Amino acid sequence: MINRKIDFSRIFSDQVGLPLKSSVFLRDHSNFRIGGEADYFFEATSIKELVSSIHVAREHSFPYYIIGGGNNLLFDDNGFRGLIIKNGAKGIKQGGKETEIEVLSGTPLKDLLLFLVEKGLSNLEFLAGIPGTIGGAVFGNAGAFEQSIGDFLLEAVLLDEKGKQAKVKRDYFEFNYRQSVLRKKQDILLEAVFELKEGGKDRIKALMDEKLEERENKHPPHSIACAGSYFKNPVLPSGEKIPAATLLEKVGAKNMRVGGAAVYSGHSNFIINKERASARDVIQLAEKLKHLVRERFGVEFEEEVIFLPAGSVVP
Ligand SMILES: Cc1cc2nc3c(=O)[nH]c(=O)nc-3n(C[C@H](O)[C@H](O)[C@H](O)COP(=O)(O)OP(=O)(O)OC[C@H]3O[C@@H](n4cnc5c(N)ncnc54)[C@H](O)[C@@H]3O)c2cc1C
Repeated sequence: MINRKIDFSRIFSDQVGLPLKSSVFLRDHSNFRIGGEADYFFEATSIKELVSSIHVAREHSFPYYIIGGGNNLLFDDNGFRGLIIKNGAKGIKQGGKETEIEVLSGTPLKDLLLFLVEKGLSNLEFLAGIPGTIGGAVFGNAGAFEQSIGDFLLEAVLLDEKGKQAKVKRDYFEFNYRQSVLRKKQDILLEAVFELKEGGKDRIKALMDEKLEERENKHPPHSIACAGSYFKNPVLPSGEKIPAATLLEKVGAKNMRVGGAAVYSGHSNFIINKERASARDVIQLAEKLKHLVRERFGVEFEEEVIFLPAGSVVP
């Protein structure tokens, strides 16, 4: 394995033209602030670097994983045996039609929102306060207040499973609640085009401020380490969606703890890293909560937060 690691590092720098970092703590790239060392780490600052780094890993069957801002991820205490590629390819521009916005997938959502205020373009105000990149947001169809990013995506450019760049329309993504086809395939989002509408700058800014204020009242402050809502809101057979937090409160989740991981006192669907939590603490606490809800309500919770095991093979 050691030789393979040395070989891969050399091959990577030969083919991509840039060096890999080794033994990088993933907790420094996660809003949960949890995670051991990845063997290798590369931050792509352009689509060209992103594509060539993925090509090299795929060509040599070297395990790799793409991250954006690390806001929806729980890394393993043992880190990752392979290469973590952080997507830092940023860029936003208006397309052929002024209401169509082309965004590179590593662009932070907050940069996009600032751009939209400046240009007076409306529709995505509901994203205000959601941390992360366009790639991570499209992957999990991020949203709030009954709206999701997929509702406004017109088309996109992907690096498909065969390594080809392909332009796809919205339908391709099979968007659903916190769900897109990217969860099932090895496609990587390179660029997305959103269809927006004109609106007054002041009104757009006021709407965003309103959303931010609503969030601040119920979500943990930015200083608290977490990965957003831990569980998806379950959908009953009748189609009704119930807030996971409501069921969690009824089973007494508030302030429950395992090691350094705790349920946030202000919102039961947030597991927080209260005091040097390990991934193991978080997973054990989540399992405990799932068990309580299953026993009491017969409802099976599904995680919204994604756990990346150290040994996952993503060739
Ligand atoms: C305080 C807090 C509040 C939050 N509130 C919300 C909320 O209200 N609504 C909501 O939906 N989410 C919320 N989240 C979760 C998170 O912000 C979103 O899921 C966000 O979209 C994640 O983006 P990211 O860039 O950080 O993705 P990461 O966490 O880095 O990655 C998430 C997944 O996306 C994949 N991915 C990333 N980039 C690409 C790409 N280019 N192509 C293919 N796959 C890719 C990764 O492989 C990974 O599987 C919250 C998180 C926090 C910490």
